[in-house]
Amino acid sequence: MKAHPQDFIPTMQTEVAKTDQITFMNQVGAIFGYLSSACLAQMEDPLKAREQSIAIRENTLNNLPFLLEEFERNAVQNGIEVLWAADAAEACSIIKDLVVKHDVHLITKGKSMISEEIDLNHYLQEELGVKIFEGDLGELIVQMRGIPPFHIVGPAINLNVQQIAQTLVDNIGMEYTENAGEIAGHVRNFLRQQFAGADMGITGVNVAIASTGSIVLAENEGNIRWSTSAPRVHVAIMSLEKVAANLTDGLHILEMQSRSCTGQGITSYVSVLSGPRDEGERDGPEKMYVVILDNGRSQIYQDTFLRQALKCIRCGRCGTACPIYLTAGAYPYGWCYPGPMGTILSPLLLGLDDTYHVYEACTLCGGCESVCPAGIKHVELIHRYRAMKAEGDKNFKATKNPALERNAFKGWATAVKNPVLFRNSVNMIRYFLGSRQEGYASSLPGPLKSWSDHRDLPVAEKTFHRYWAELQNNMESARREAAAQLDKKGGLDNE
Ligand code: SF4
Repeated sequence: MKAHPQDFIPTMQTEVAKTDQITFMNQVGAIFGYLSSACLAQMEDPLKAREQSIAIRENTLNNLPFLLEEFERNAVQNGIEVLWAADAAEACSIIKDLVVKHDVHLITKGKSMISEEIDLNHYLQEELGVKIFEGDLGELIVQMRGIPPFHIVGPAINLNVQQIAQTLVDNIGMEYTENAGEIAGHVRNFLRQQFAGADMGITGVNVAIASTGSIVLAENEGNIRWSTSAPRVHVAIMSLEKVAANLTDGLHILEMQSRSCTGQGITSYVSVLSGPRDEGERDGPEKMYVVILDNGRSQIYQDTFLRQALKCIRCGRCGTACPIYLTAGAYPYGWCYPGPMGTILSPLLLGLDDTYHVYEACTLCGGCESVCPAGIKHVELIHRYRAMKAEGDKNFKATKNPALERNAFKGWATAVKNPVLFRNSVNMIRYFLGSRQEGYASSLPGPLKSWSDHRDLPVAEKTFHRYWAELQNNMESARREAAAQLDKKGGLDNE
């Protein structure tokens, strides 16, 4: 999908007006949150399991160049062709060449965020006019409607049954029905025809295993197995941080991903693919390719603090703990990574200027990091993005904040460190606000206008400091008065 995080505010305004959607999102958050908490709690030692997944991801980052080389060596030995793409354009162009080389006319796909990241479907359709069908039911529905996925495991979870039925009537000639079983049956028949006729299957990669040169794919519908075994050619795309040292590590990550995401001990299907079809084998592709995508990740990797963002295993658990995501849904994030996952990844991959509102909208409540199985420190990262934006950063496309804003914050920082200055400044602001509007300041000047356009600021009668000082004085007077009364009566003992 085309990235448009710059539209965060208008999209947010549209989304928060959908009150039914907010209720629904809160239910989704509560249900997935409950399922994953219950499923993680069933592990023999949930804390140890989390520590282990954090350690595995740290090991991957600490040894990333070596693990990638090891993966490539072993994959090539298995007969897989490994191709490296520096950015989205190169990845798309590599896959386009493969489509041409293998005379591909029909492609089926497994649901994959990385293909959304490089906007592969549009590219191949525009450049070559090939037919591409998503194999995942929800993804197929959003593809047919031309809208972005709403949720990482439920791309069409925000659509009602009537909308889904009508989409299928319009696109695959299904007879209108609202019966879920019948709908699934129609889609199954339709997709099986596509799988049977496809020349190429394209998937993502959940984990790549360095020691065996294999890729591991997890799913619940079986469509990925179709895409990886029926067509002549299989192309898997992975971002370069998706590697694990060995199968034990990789499967632990997969387990944590499914427990944290859908609350399943493991997804219904797990495929470990170690190469194309061997001579004499009936199933599997004749050719298998793995495209390893950088797309800005090497730049992130250079910074030993920022690189923790690459630990993300795309489980989506953080979304169930995020008040912004649960209110506005996925669309305002404007890219394939919604919720806190997008808040930490998109600014580094797309640049801090374009994603300004994504990380500025964060409340810094820390709900996300308290549940993250990869141990990412979201709050510290977001603080860092804001600091980088304030000061400007060439590597991550951040233009320095305007001098007025920087000076205003510097002034504020000086004032809050000095009690006298702070009190006088607050009194001045109060005087200014109070003299403009009575009771409420509903229209503030200059850069504060966009804030007051949506909120009224109650102007307190007195500052907290004054209230506190008066309270102390009153208490002191009351104490003195009580003591004087006691003196007059000759003290407590004489009562
Ligand atoms: S940031 Fe953490 S919780 Fe969120 S998707 Fe990534 S690994 Fe999962």
